Amino acid sequence: MDYGSAGWRFESSQACLLPKEFMQKKDDEKWMREALREAENSFRNEEVPVGAVVVKDGIIIGRGCNRKEALKDPTAHAEIIAITAAANSIGDWRLEDGILYCTLEPCLMCAGAIIQARISRVVYGARDEKFGVFGSVIDIRNKGWNWKFEVVSGVLKEDSANLLKKFFKERRDG
Ligand code: ZN
Repeated sequence: MDYGSAGWRFESSQACLLPKEFMQKKDDEKWMREALREAENSFRNEEVPVGAVVVKDGIIIGRGCNRKEALKDPTAHAEIIAITAAANSIGDWRLEDGILYCTLEPCLMCAGAIIQARISRVVYGARDEKFGVFGSVIDIRNKGWNWKFEVVSGVLKEDSANLLKKFFKERRDG
C-alpha cells in the first residue's frame, strides 16, 4: 500500500480515491456489514438471505431481513421491513436524508417504497438478474419520478452473493 501525497492508492485496484470518497466507502462497507448480518438472520431462518438497514444521521433507524416464508407475505422483503421500521422509529414516513443499505439489488416493489419514503441514497451489494430494477431487469432510475435519489452498487457484493449461493446450494443438495 502506498499512502503517498498523490492520494489514496490501492494495490488491488486502479481506484485512486480522495480522502472524502475513501471515508464514504469505509462508511458504506460498515453499514453494509450490518445489512449482511440481517441477511444471515434470514439464512438461519431458512429464508432467502437478504438484509437491509436504514441509516440516518449516522445511526441505524431501521433493520429488516427477508421474512417472506415466515410471514407468508410476498411483500415481506428486507427493504420493506427496514423502511417500515425506520418510519416507525422516527414517527414520520418521510425518510429524507435516509440511506438504505441492502445486500441485493432492490425489486420493483422495494424501489416503489424507496421513492415513496423519499430515501436519498440506496447502496446495494449484489445484482439481482431476476428481479433487480436498478439496471438488471430494467432501470427505473431517472424516469421522471418526483423524488431523485443516488444509487451505489457493488458494495461487499461477494459477501452477499456468497451467502445466496450457499443458501441455494444447501437447498439443492438437500
Ligand atoms: Zn423487494
